[in-house]
Amino acid sequence: MRIGQYETADGKSWCGVKATEETVINLSEAGAAAGIDIPRLSTDLLANWQWRRKVELAVEYAEETGTGVYDADNVDRLPPVTNPEKVVCVGLNYRDHAEEGDNPIPDEPVLFSKFPTSVSGPESTIRWDPELTQKVDYEAELVVVIGRETRRVSREAALDHVAGYLVGNDVSARDLQHGDGQWVRGKSLDSFAPIGPEIVTTDEVEDPHDLDIWAEVNGERVQDSTTANLIFGIDELVSFCSQAFTLKPGDLIFTGTPPGVGLYREPPVLLEDGDSVTIGISDIGELTNSCAYL
Ligand code: ZN
Repeated sequence: MRIGQYETADGKSWCGVKATEETVINLSEAGAAAGIDIPRLSTDLLANWQWRRKVELAVEYAEETGTGVYDADNVDRLPPVTNPEKVVCVGLNYRDHAEEGDNPIPDEPVLFSKFPTSVSGPESTIRWDPELTQKVDYEAELVVVIGRETRRVSREAALDHVAGYLVGNDVSARDLQHGDGQWVRGKSLDSFAPIGPEIVTTDEVEDPHDLDIWAEVNGERVQDSTTANLIFGIDELVSFCSQAFTLKPGDLIFTGTPPGVGLYREPPVLLEDGDSVTIGISDIGELTNSCAYL
């Protein structure tokens, strides 16, 4: 299933399932008609007991009756997760990226975070004040969406705690990131964590460690790799995080970026007003955001 959040012309927002290229199903509306209580926020949905079964029943009902079925052209796509408690990120997690910079392969994942207010969606614009930062960069990343409360889980059981995957762009203000001595400000500007287009549930992703991942700036390919190059896999990352802190439904883990980020290109490719950035991951989708100065 592909689960997103949408807004209709009446200003109402809800989580839904992308049923076909042309249609989206409003889960709370179809669920209510079928006698199933489904919340309007994806984080609340994921916290629901047996949410997968409830979604399947609501989708079945909508497809039979037409209740809650919307034309995809008539709804706005919101970020698939709007209010995660945590946005965890992993540094230097691609073998080819580590080798490119002559960095040793780390023994353990290095974690940092973005504030949840940086999260934006598939129709959002990446915005910044050019007086605050002049070095804005992209990072193509596979993003894990946690599906249930996770504390001290083993690596073997970790994937049972994942709801699905998203395409993400870990947008980074390099001058702030490196100038501050720690990363949180440079990584957390409002709009600097676009995610989308929908959460693809784990049952639809045969192997998350065998997906093509790429980035394009204004149509030019600048990153091109595969998640087979991940140093620490999804199971390892979820288990590692959960030894230290509790993961909650809707929490996001940005799993790191492959080689080719703008700052280290020759010459550097830094984002500017009017640019368009697309991140793509096979089987998950494509996420395109435009850039603009505040
Ligand atoms: Zn990153």
